[in-house]
Formats: sequence, C-alpha cells, structure tokens
Amino acid sequence: MALIVQKFGGSSVANIERIENVARKVIASRDAGNQVVVVVSAMKGETDRLTDLAHAAAQTSNPRPRELDLLLSTGETVTIALLTMVLERLGAEARCYTGAQVQILTDSAFSKARIQEIDAEPIREDLGAGRIVVVAGFQGVDENGSITTLGRGGSDTTAVALAAALEADECQIYTDVDGVYTTDPRVVPTARRLDQITFEEMLELASLGSKVLQIRAVEFAGKYQVPLRVLSSFEDGPGTLITMEGEDMQQGSMEEPLIAGIAFSRDEAKLTMLGVPDTPGIAAQILGPIASANIEVDMIVQNISNDGLTDFTFTVQKRDYERAMETLRRLAAELSAREVFGDTSIGKLSLVGVGMRSHAGVASKMFDALAAEGINIQMISTSEIKISVVVEEKYLELGTRALHRAFDLDDESGRTVSVEGQSA
Ligand code: ADP
Ligand code: ASP
Ligand code: MG
Repeated sequence: MALIVQKFGGSSVANIERIENVARKVIASRDAGNQVVVVVSAMKGETDRLTDLAHAAAQTSNPRPRELDLLLSTGETVTIALLTMVLERLGAEARCYTGAQVQILTDSAFSKARIQEIDAEPIREDLGAGRIVVVAGFQGVDENGSITTLGRGGSDTTAVALAAALEADECQIYTDVDGVYTTDPRVVPTARRLDQITFEEMLELASLGSKVLQIRAVEFAGKYQVPLRVLSSFEDGPGTLITMEGEDMQQGSMEEPLIAGIAFSRDEAKLTMLGVPDTPGIAAQILGPIASANIEVDMIVQNISNDGLTDFTFTVQKRDYERAMETLRRLAAELSAREVFGDTSIGKLSLVGVGMRSHAGVASKMFDALAAEGINIQMISTSEIKISVVVEEKYLELGTRALHRAFDLDDESGRTVSVEGQSA
C-alpha cells in the first residue's frame, strides 16, 4: 500500500463543483489501494481578497503581521472543512486539520514562516484507521501558539513537508496546467510540457519567477528526497516528474536537453549609485546597510573605475524598492556619491538548463535572439546552469517568446496547451 500526498491549488477548489471533482480524484486514489493525505489551498482569489480587506482595515499596506497571518490562514481553513464535508457526502471517511491542529510547527517569521517540525503520528493513526486526511496548506503555528503563514504559494511547501514527514511514496501537486512547461504556457502557448526536470533546474526556475511550484517546496523535496510530480486537476496525464540529476532519463530522452526552460519575473527593481570612490570596501559599505535593513539583493554590477570613481548598480524585489532607495540616499551623502537613481519598470529573463555546463555559446545565442527583437540588455548574471538578463519590463513577454523560439523549445506536435481558464 502506497502513501500519497496530493495537493490541490486554488483554481482546483474554486467552487463546490470543483471541490467535488477533487474529492472524486482523492477517493479514486484511495480506492486504488493508497493511503491519501490531501493538502488544499484557499479558493482561487481568496488570499488576494483577504489581503485587500486587511489593507482596507489597517489603512496601510503593512498591517500587523501576526493578525495578517491569522486572517490569511482562514482561506485554507474554509477549504479543508468544505472538502471534508464533500468527501463524507460521497461516502468516504475523512478528517481535516488546520496547521495548528496537526502541529505544523514553524518559526515566528510571519508571512514567510519556515516549517521546523511536523508531528506525523496523529495523521498516521487516521490513515491506519482507513481515513482520508485533509490538511490546510500555507499555515502553521509558532511556539507561542500564533498562527503563521508560509509565503504565497506556500501550500506546495506544506504538501512536500508532510510527504517528507510521513515518508510518502509520492507528493503530487495538482494544478491548473498539466505539468511543468518549458515556460509559462499562459505567455507562450506553444510551450512544451516536460516529462521530467531535475531538482536543480526546477529550483532555478522557481527562484527566477516560475510560480508553478513554490521554491521552498522544491528545496524541501530535494533535501528530503521526496518524489515530486506536477499534474493537472482537470485531466488525466503523467504530468512532470522532478528528478534527481543522474537518475536514469526516460527512454527517448537519453541526452540532456540544453535548455530546460525559461523563467521571467516582473518583481524586480534596479538602484544605481553614480560616482562613488573606487576604494576597497565600497561594495560592503553600500550593501551592508541594505542587508541590515533585511533587503535581499539579487544582481550586482560595479563598473570599472574612471578617475578613481565608480558606479554601482543592484536589483531588489519591487516591494523593497522604496526602503532600499531611502537607505541609498542616506549613504550617498555619507559617501559623497554624485547621484542616486532607480528604475522599477524592469524585469528579469532567465534561461535554465543543466546542459549549459557542457555547452559553450548559450549566452551569445541568447543575446543574439534578444538583439534581433531590439531588446536592450541592462544587466547580466550567470551561474553554472542559468543565464539571467535584466530588460525593460515591457519586453519580458516578447523576450520570452524570442528565446523560446531561438532555443527550439516550441512544441512541434501542434497540440494545444491545456491551461484552465484559457482556450489556448
Ligand atoms: P496553484 O493555484 O494550483 O498553486 P499556481 O497559479 O500557483 O497554481 O501555479 C500554476 C501556474 O503557474 C500556471 O497556471 C502557469 O501560468 C504558471 N507557470 C509559470 N511558469 C510555468 C511553467 N514553466 N510551467 C507550468 N506553469 C507555469
Ligand atoms: N493561498 C495561498 C496563496 O494564494 C497559498 C497557496 O495557494 O499555495 O498564495
Ligand atoms: Mg501555487
């Protein structure tokens, strides 16, 4: 008998009819002889709606984190109760738990809490007694009993963490697309579903903006070797398996593809300080206070020195832009910099693939393809398996399509991508 954790995202539980569809899928898995733990998200749009309510109530975009997390967690509490009611109506014995009830213990970093421990025993008892167990995604509880949330998309992480704690045979992430694609199929309708992708590649794609899996879920799955699969809630199919690198590739795909996929992110802002002294320690003097303000820096570029002066540019997430700018203005006075300015209308485009390790020329091909569309590259950063560029935000989708074509990622079969809510 296998133990499976199945996670259903917001669009999969958007109304009672869809919740019933989920319930039938879960029951079918159980009837096939599996023990099933189900993790659900809030109904589609609910987390956004609650966030808006909080902003309206607190009259600020930064309501008190403890209360905000408590509020946001209610979205998932609603869906576990509804799904359990439907399961019971369909004749399946089921029991649901909030994050606090099942003791998903987290730290106290509200809105981005990290899971520290899960007590798997009560779930095992329920499963042993033949019940389907339904657990709220996205939420946990800290040591003081305060409700915490795991960050947007966090139900993925709940599912993988439960799968790890229960030593599940597979963690299945059901969503509104039928697997991981070469890029977001909503932007490139000719994107191709991947039968499999390595953890490393998935980790890069998730961190570079592909929201199909939350990055922490992928990290967890890699760390605890949880077999992870992305599938459609709405149609049957094999989905995409996330594999350890070096595992046997499936037949017919013995050779590693050069590029696994393309990610893009609008959540970028750029800050520049012109004319700072080109002396040892200058980078630390600028980035130290930024780090102390708890702002994560992504790309960094420092120009070659001119007359003993240099220019310094870095990127942060959009939500941190104002705070980073304030810090930079303060520093500019201290360092007698010539000028400080920023730009929030930028985006990041990234190519990801483990095949890059052994291939030269990927970067130049990427730059050629962007140049052919008249897209100017503002910043570049590379790692072993990815190349990222910063471009004007309005060119993100055009750039993604151009790269998809240039690297022959288009689906040649002529099939149409199945994206819920879109008739592509
Ligand atoms: P859920 O609510 O089920 O968690 P999400 O909206 O978080 O679903 O994630 C699924 C969405 O991720 C898809 O609808 C798709 O638009 C987007 N996406 C971005 N990049 C990719 C990709 N490479 N492959 C598949 N989907 C992607
Ligand atoms: N409901 C949360 C969100 O919308 C968590 C999730 O769906 O994974 O981000
Ligand atoms: Mg999601």
